[in-house]
Amino acid sequence: MTDHSLVFTGVFSAVLVLGLLTKFYLASRQIRHVARNRGAVPAAFAATISLTAHQKAADYTIAKARFGMLEMAFGAAVLLGWTLLGGIDALNQALSGSSLANWGALVPQLALLAAFGLISGVLDLPFTLCSTFRIEERFGFNKMTFKLWLTDLVKSTLVGIVIGLPIVALILWLMGSAGKLWWLWAWGVWMGFNLLVLVLYPTVIAPLFNKFKPLEDEALKARVTALMQRCGFAAKGLFVMDGSKRSAHANAYFTGFGAAKRVVFYDTLLKQLSPGEVDAVLAHELGHFKHKHIIKRIISMFAMSLAGFALLGWLSSQVWFYTGLGVRPNLTGANDALALLLFLLVVPLFSFFISPVFAQFSRKHEFEADAYAVAQTDGKDLQSALLKLYQDNASTLTPDPVFVKFYYSHPPASERLGRMIPSVESAAT
Ligand SMILES: [Zn+2]
Repeated sequence: MTDHSLVFTGVFSAVLVLGLLTKFYLASRQIRHVARNRGAVPAAFAATISLTAHQKAADYTIAKARFGMLEMAFGAAVLLGWTLLGGIDALNQALSGSSLANWGALVPQLALLAAFGLISGVLDLPFTLCSTFRIEERFGFNKMTFKLWLTDLVKSTLVGIVIGLPIVALILWLMGSAGKLWWLWAWGVWMGFNLLVLVLYPTVIAPLFNKFKPLEDEALKARVTALMQRCGFAAKGLFVMDGSKRSAHANAYFTGFGAAKRVVFYDTLLKQLSPGEVDAVLAHELGHFKHKHIIKRIISMFAMSLAGFALLGWLSSQVWFYTGLGVRPNLTGANDALALLLFLLVVPLFSFFISPVFAQFSRKHEFEADAYAVAQTDGKDLQSALLKLYQDNASTLTPDPVFVKFYYSHPPASERLGRMIPSVESAAT
C-alpha cells in the first residue's frame, strides 16, 4: 500500500461514514417532525383535509423513512463488503484467472460487470419486495400481484441486458483502444445512447410494461387540445396508461421529442381529477416546457457526465484509486471494467453532498410551472388537483424543512399552495 492509497482509503471511509450519519440525521429529523405534527391537520388545510387522511400520510411518511434507514445501513455495509473487505477483488481475481480470458480482453470484463449486477440485484431483492408488498401494500397503494412483479423483474432484466450490454461493451472497448482521450469519445457515445433511449422509450420500451390507449373521452380531449393550442404546443397524441395495474399513485407526463411528443395520463389520474383539474395539471407540465426546464435538465446532464467521464479518465490511470478501495489492479489484463465499477460505486458518496443544489433548482422549476398553469387555467383547479394528488399519494403536509432542502424535488403542498393563493386572488379581482 502506498501513501496515496492509504489517504484515499481514509477519505473514502470518512465520506462513507459522514454521508451515512447525515442521512440518518435527516431521516430521524423527518420522523420526529412528522410524528410531532401528527395530532392535528395544519390550519391552512383544516377545511380540505381530514384528520384520518393527515394521519395516514404521517404514518406512511414515517414508515418509508424508517425503512429507508434500514436500506441505507445495509447499502453501506454492502459497499464496504464490495470494496475494502475485498468483494470486487475476489470476483475479479476469479474471473480474470478463468478460461473466459481466452475469449479476448472484453469478455472477462463484461462478465465482471454482469456478475456484479446480478449479485447486487439479488441483495436488493428483499428490499424491493418488502417495499412493494409490505409498505405500499399496508397503505393500500400496491396493486401488483407477485406474478406481475416477477414478470416485471424478468422483463426489465432482459431490457437491461439487450440495451445495456452493447453500450457497456462499446465504452469498455473505447477505454481500451481509443487512446488518452477515450473519455471524450465515450462521453459522445453515452450522450448519443441517452438521446436514443429518450426517443425509443415512449414507443418501444414503455409499451413492454404498460398498455397505452388513445384518450377516448371526447369532452376532455377537446378541452386538453384547446389548452395545448392556446399554449402553442404540438403533440402527436394523448394517451392513457394503465398505471392502476401496479399502483394507486397518480401521475401525468410528457415523453418524446419534437413533433413526436406525446402526453400520457395515468388512468388513476383521470379517475381522481375533474376535467378542469386535469387541464390544470397538464398546464403545469406545459409550464415545464415553456420555461425550457427539460432542455436545461438535459444540458446539465450532458455537462455533468462530461465532467464525470473526464474524472474517470484520470482516476482509471491512478493505481491508488484501485488499491485504496481494496482492489488489486490486473497486471496483465485490462482494468477498465474495474475502474468503471469502482467509479460508479464511489461517486454517489460524494455527489450526495451537492444534491441539495439540484433539489433546489428542481423546486424552483416546480414553482415556475405552477405559476404558468395558474396563468393559463383556473388557479383554483390547480389548487384542488394538487391537494387531491398530495392526499392520494399520502404526502405529508408537515415535512421537516431541512429534510425538504436535501431531498424534495417538489416543494411541499403548503409552500406550493401558499405561493398560488395570492395569484389566484389577484386573477379573481
Ligand atoms: Zn412539475
